[in-house]
Amino acid sequence: MLVVPPPGRRTVRPDHRGRAYVRITAAVVEELHGPFVVREVDLDEPGPGDVLVKVAATGFCHTDGIARDGDLPFPLPGVLGHEGSGTVVAVGDGVTGVSEGQDVVLGWPSCGACRNCQAGEPRYCLRMGELVAGGRRLDGSSALRGTDGSPLASHFFGQSSFGTYAMATAASLVPVPAGLPVELMGPVACGLATGAGAVFNTLRPEPGSSIVVYGAGTVGLAAVMAARNSAATTIIAVDRHAARLRLAEGLGATHTIDATSADPVQAVNDICGGPADASLDCTGIVSVIRQAIDSVGMLGTALLIGGAPAGAEFSADHLTTLWGKTIRGTLGGSGHGQQLIAALMDLHAQGRFPFDQLVQFFPLDRIEDAVEASYSGAVVKPILTMPH
Ligand SMILES: [Zn+2]
Ligand SMILES: [Zn+2]
Repeated sequence: MLVVPPPGRRTVRPDHRGRAYVRITAAVVEELHGPFVVREVDLDEPGPGDVLVKVAATGFCHTDGIARDGDLPFPLPGVLGHEGSGTVVAVGDGVTGVSEGQDVVLGWPSCGACRNCQAGEPRYCLRMGELVAGGRRLDGSSALRGTDGSPLASHFFGQSSFGTYAMATAASLVPVPAGLPVELMGPVACGLATGAGAVFNTLRPEPGSSIVVYGAGTVGLAAVMAARNSAATTIIAVDRHAARLRLAEGLGATHTIDATSADPVQAVNDICGGPADASLDCTGIVSVIRQAIDSVGMLGTALLIGGAPAGAEFSADHLTTLWGKTIRGTLGGSGHGQQLIAALMDLHAQGRFPFDQLVQFFPLDRIEDAVEASYSGAVVKPILTMPH
C-alpha cells in the first residue's frame, strides 16, 4: 500500500492497530439536529478499490440538512457532504481509470452488480440506501474515527466530503476537464445533475413542448438550463422569491410565475393556452406537488424530484389522471451519472450551463453561515472551500 508524504495538514502514521491513517479537518455532526463542529478526525488510507481525494470544495445541499435532522436517517456522530470535488492524492490496490494528481468530481456511488446497475440505471442501485446513508462501506467498516478512536460514520453518499480529504470508490469519480475550476464543480454531481438529468434523461422534451418548473433553487434552475438546451419552447419557472425568478429568466425561462401573487395552475393555463405538457416539482412541498400534477393535462407528465419530509404523502385527482397522465419520480437525474456529470461540465465550459451564477463560496469554518444562507434563500448554492 502506497503511503503519500503529508502535504499541509495531512499526516500519515500508523494507528494503534498498525494501520496507516490520515489526520484531516472535517465538519462533524455530533447528534441529531446538532451543529456542524469543525475538528480533526482520522481517515483510513485507501484500501483495495478506494481513492483518497484531497477535497478542494463541497457544495451544501438540502440533503445534508435533512440527514442532520433525521429525515434521511444517517448514523451520528458522522461526517456529511456529498457534492465534493478535488484532486486524487492516493489510490488503493486494483484502481484503474484515475491516477494521482487528477482533478475529479465525486459522483454518487453504486454497487455495480445488482439488477438495476447491470441494466444501466446506477441511480436506482438496489443497495442505494446502504451506499448513501449506511455510514460505512458495504463491508460494514467505517473509514473515519475520532482522534481518540471513537466511532464516526463515513461514506455519506460514498464520500463524506465535508472534510479536507475524502474516501471514495474509483468507479464514482468523474475527471474534471482541463481548464475548468475544480472548486466549482462538486455540485454538478448532485443538485445540478438531479434537475438537468430529469429533463435530459427522464423527460426528453418534444420539439415545441411546454415545461413548468416549480421551485427555482439549484435543482429547478438546473432544469431550466437543461430545458433551454432542449427543443422545448415554453419554459415556465414558478417560485415565491422575485430574485430567483429573475435568475430563472436569465438562465432561459420564457415565463415566470410569482406564486405569492398568482394561482400557478391558472397562470400556466393562461400562458400555454391550456395545461402544460410537462411539470417538475423541485420543492418537495406536498401542496406544490399537487399544483405540478394539476398543471399538466391529457398525456402530460408530472415529474417529482424534490425531497419531502419522511413519510409525506400526496394526492391526485383520479379522473384527470386517467387521461393518460404520467406521475413519475426521478432520482439524482437518472441514467448514467458519470456520463451526465461529464456532459454538464462540457456544457458549462461552452457557456450553455452557467451554474456559476448560483454559487457563493464559504470557508469550511463558516459552514453554519452557508447552511443559513441556503435555508433563507439568500444563496442558491453555497460551496464550502477546504483549508489546505
Ligand atoms: Zn447496484
Ligand atoms: Zn445533494
